[in-house]
Amino acid sequence: MVFLFIPLSNTICIAFLHGMISVQRVSKNYSSKQVLDQITLEIKSAKVVSLIGPSGCGKSTLLRIIMALIKQDTGNVFIDDEEITSQNSLEIRRKIGYVIQKGGLFPHLTARENCAITAKFLGWDSKRIDSRIQELADLVKIDHEIIDRLPSKLSGGQQQRISLIRALMLDPNILLLDEPLGSIDPMVRYELQTDLKEIFTSLGKTVLLVTHDLNEAAYLGDDIVLMNKGKIIQRGTIDNLIEHPADSFVQKFVNSQRSIRVG
Ligand code: ADP
Ligand code: MG
Repeated sequence: MVFLFIPLSNTICIAFLHGMISVQRVSKNYSSKQVLDQITLEIKSAKVVSLIGPSGCGKSTLLRIIMALIKQDTGNVFIDDEEITSQNSLEIRRKIGYVIQKGGLFPHLTARENCAITAKFLGWDSKRIDSRIQELADLVKIDHEIIDRLPSKLSGGQQQRISLIRALMLDPNILLLDEPLGSIDPMVRYELQTDLKEIFTSLGKTVLLVTHDLNEAAYLGDDIVLMNKGKIIQRGTIDNLIEHPADSFVQKFVNSQRSIRVG
């Protein structure tokens, strides 16, 4: 837990900084395959970290473990200094907003119903739910009149914006975004990247975002974490990765993503 001591009119205020993620030596096997190998990752409150690496290297598995959806074999995960256990996993999940590739909206529910599910379950009245959806619709720049459509009547970009509203409904301190722009076409993707960056800056949440695009990782993240075969190979800024690659894998990975051919 981090304490901020802010002197204010001769009194000492103690403010808690929420939204810290601490992953300690986490490993996970599926059958005989090691999917995560001694992962240690600390993310400070209000930081945006991009998680990148080849397909199958364990990014989604790591997010699912932090989200308390699956359990690691060994190691520990702490959210705001509280260790995730089987007893508190539901409570932990409510502290975190989670968006998966293609949004994961329920197809038989309207966008509004998708957004309202958990709040309704927690007993919010419909006025409170609607005003929260309205507020978030403005934040993610979505037209209010499309809120009552089914997901199939929304574009990919609109579905992702609705998924973001759903993830933000309970005002979590942490957002886990698993390739949120993965299936979006390039023009819409560019717009969404710009809006996401604005949203991250204005909300000040802790964000762990998976992407397979190094430019996106660099644009959205304060830091980039590069994984390969279940391990974190390097963490740093895009400049660190380019100028001081930890090994030949980092060098190859960075070069492969920078090879834009003209003509
Ligand atoms: P990434 O998100 O980096 O593409 P994943 O975390 O989804 O990778 O998967 C890492 C590895 O774990 C892959 O080889 C995948 O096939 C395997 N895996 C993931 N989930 C399961 C599961 N439920 N059962 C068996 N193998 C799995
Ligand atoms: Mg994945």
